[in-house]
Amino acid sequence: MHIAIIGGGFAGLTAAHELRAAGQQVTVFEAGPQLGGLAAGFKAPGWDWALEKFYHHIFQTDKAIIGLAKTIGAGEMLFFNQQTTAFLCPEHGAHPVSIPGILTFPHLPLIDRLRYGLTLAQFKLRRDWQRLEQTTAERHLRRWSGDRAYKQYWEPLLVGKFGPYAGEVNAAWIWARIKTRSFKLGYFKGGFQAFADALGSYIERQGATIHLAQPVQRVERADDGTWTVDAGGAPRRFDRVIVASAPGVLTKLVPSLPRDYTARMTALKSMGAVVMVVALRQQLLTNGVYWYMPPKEHFPYLALVEHTNMISPQHYGGDRLIYCGDYLPADHRYFTMPDEDVKQEWLSALPQVNRDFHPGWIKQSWLFRERYAQPVVPVDHSRNVPSLRTPLDGLYFASLAHVYPWDRGTNFAVELGQRVAREVLEQEARGENKEQRTEI
Ligand SMILES: Cc1cc2nc3c(=O)[nH]c(=O)nc-3n(C[C@H](O)[C@H](O)[C@H](O)COP(=O)(O)OP(=O)(O)OC[C@H]3O[C@@H](n4cnc5c(N)ncnc54)[C@H](O)[C@@H]3O)c2cc1C
Repeated sequence: MHIAIIGGGFAGLTAAHELRAAGQQVTVFEAGPQLGGLAAGFKAPGWDWALEKFYHHIFQTDKAIIGLAKTIGAGEMLFFNQQTTAFLCPEHGAHPVSIPGILTFPHLPLIDRLRYGLTLAQFKLRRDWQRLEQTTAERHLRRWSGDRAYKQYWEPLLVGKFGPYAGEVNAAWIWARIKTRSFKLGYFKGGFQAFADALGSYIERQGATIHLAQPVQRVERADDGTWTVDAGGAPRRFDRVIVASAPGVLTKLVPSLPRDYTARMTALKSMGAVVMVVALRQQLLTNGVYWYMPPKEHFPYLALVEHTNMISPQHYGGDRLIYCGDYLPADHRYFTMPDEDVKQEWLSALPQVNRDFHPGWIKQSWLFRERYAQPVVPVDHSRNVPSLRTPLDGLYFASLAHVYPWDRGTNFAVELGQRVAREVLEQEARGENKEQRTEI
């Protein structure tokens, strides 16, 4: 078969790798100028390593991406170290998110701290998420941790990540985050961009074709069961097509999808992300904290991440790099405001985390926005998760919306790429695509 893959993020690249390894002909179309999708990076002059536009790390438990790195001979690019994540509360300062950190937090009654610890332990030990998805995270967490601990620890996370949908999110989502995550964090030498490039080169050496800066405009099914992929007015024929991108991309590219299916894809709720990267002349979080979760009522964003408290600034010409990031509904004003206005609002909060901060520390800043960044997972979400096969024979779909109950991430994008490739191959082996393909 000749298979077109639309999307050069980790799901699309992994699917390409698997299909090529199975002897299929593969062509990847990526709209952007580089591979990596949401994990892609950029380099400022003087930096040796690329930096992700949106903060990224992996966990020791991320078996699929670690396995893939080893398979393509890039295992030594990956390294892990221990980092501190902390709540930032204006009255009480920074408090590490760890069992000892929370159990010694002095501003919450002991009973609440114990109940919080018990909730974490419960999630770590529990295996069944199916019952958890039948209730909201809020209801479950209030019951287990109590109202005060919910307000202190859980609510900021849910509201920060899901904004107006926080009350709808199911308890399996929070279980999945606690269940799978290690304390040690992993990163790739050269950044995730270097790993995406290594994967792309490997796939090309295996014989796949990758087209960068080629946004596909239309995907159409011919009467003989083959598919036409049109990227820039040069239609090409394929036996199968995998759209490894957002639901909105699929429905736009394939107008021949049945209306009720398109309506179901359009109804899937999600959040966008806005992230500002700032290169500083000095360290901001001098206590070495990597990841701060400031309270949203006092802060204009959800996360403040000092990347160079995890990765040495020597890889970035000595620059200290921070991220300020938030998840927001796609119609939020930050998606249409001029970059400079968003930056001004966000930069004005930095003295709250370091009183010595001075605007003169800023060397450069960048703003990145993505309207489809985080699916919202309401109660009984399993019935909303799309299938890898679309209603049209030979057309497959793999997106963040397919990752469930786990929270989306590069590891799960790799796993998804493996799953969709397997689906294509198994369906072919079973002879389930009705039309015979023609020679191409
Ligand atoms: C703020 C933020 C923080 C994150 N932090 C982490 C983290 O710490 N660790 C982690 O593992 N993951 C993290 N993630 C998630 C991770 O980036 C994603 O889960 C993963 O990259 C998804 O890969 P994908 O291939 O499924 O999709 P994508 O990366 O979205 O890839 C889809 C690709 O399709 C392309 N495309 C779109 N339209 C077309 C078209 N018409 N033609 C051709 N190509 C097209 C896009 O350009 C894109 O490259 C984070 C994401 C965000 C937004």
